[in-house]
Amino acid sequence: MDMQTSFLDRLFETGLLIDTGVDGLYGRSGQFEDVIAAFERMIDATGGGDGAEAMRFPPGMNRAFFETSGYMKSFPQLAGTVHSFCGNELDHMSLLQCMEVGDDWTKGQEATEIVLTPAACYPLYPTIAKRGRLPKGGGLFDLQSYCFRHEPSKDPARQQLFRMREYVCMGTEADVTDFRQTWMDRGVEMMKSVGLEVAIDVANDPFFGRAGKMLANNQRDQNLKFELLIPITSVSKPTACMSFNYHQDAFGAKWGIHLDDGSVAHTACVGFGLERIALALFHTHGLDVKEWPAKVRKALWG
Ligand code: ATP
Ligand code: ZN
Ligand code: MG
Repeated sequence: MDMQTSFLDRLFETGLLIDTGVDGLYGRSGQFEDVIAAFERMIDATGGGDGAEAMRFPPGMNRAFFETSGYMKSFPQLAGTVHSFCGNELDHMSLLQCMEVGDDWTKGQEATEIVLTPAACYPLYPTIAKRGRLPKGGGLFDLQSYCFRHEPSKDPARQQLFRMREYVCMGTEADVTDFRQTWMDRGVEMMKSVGLEVAIDVANDPFFGRAGKMLANNQRDQNLKFELLIPITSVSKPTACMSFNYHQDAFGAKWGIHLDDGSVAHTACVGFGLERIALALFHTHGLDVKEWPAKVRKALWG
């Protein structure tokens, strides 16, 4: 049995994660949630003075906005759409018939106006664009959402439905790159304060296909994405527990987000992978929270 399977099995055995029969789709115990809640309070305490506007969207977004975002160009393999039965009684009868004989009953489902949110910040950009120009000083937003990515895995740190806490900054190039650097420094400090060993490295998104390789190389060469890495299921391949993305003016241009002087906004987002951070804590300090170092418990629960 490899290390990965055994960590997932131990999480199931202790009940911290609850098996649903689908890889990457888990329930969480009260204890697991308590760790996430404590860490989110640390995030609040760290970023709380910045005056970010908090917004919470459900884990589904407007399909039209999703289409505009270009997600299907870059990450078609990860997307999840919501389909529903939209037929009449006759269609219903053939649906039940189909299920009865074990045929694929999902074929007749039709796309709804909703897709699953792939990253917490996606619903924000069209929302802000609709408001008109940003006020002087730009915009700073605080988001959290369950996100869906179709990447089933036995690695407990790679789930299909997981939570991302994000801060998004909209402003000049200098504003948003400063914002990103500030959170890289804060992220390292926060992880150290809870006894986690971290490294920051340049990264890229998993753009689809051959053209995607070029996009990924470009993203790396321009230092557009950094990750904060913590060993969870592997020491040689540590897991990204935070991401720091600079979009240049790409999202500003795509969505029509403008600064008070009319120029196109630059944007950056920093994301905390909440399940991954909890898993890093359980992996590093043990599955029994009562046994965690006093310093770590104090940082999380005071
Ligand atoms: P990875 O390289 O591990 O796939 P990513 O680059 O896809 O991560 P982002 O798209 O930047 O990650 O997402 C922001 C944060 O969300 C990540 O830093 C990570 O902590 C978390 N995250 C991403 N994918 C998953 C997943 N499948 N399960 C749990 N957390 C995830
Ligand atoms: Zn984002
Ligand atoms: Mg990924």
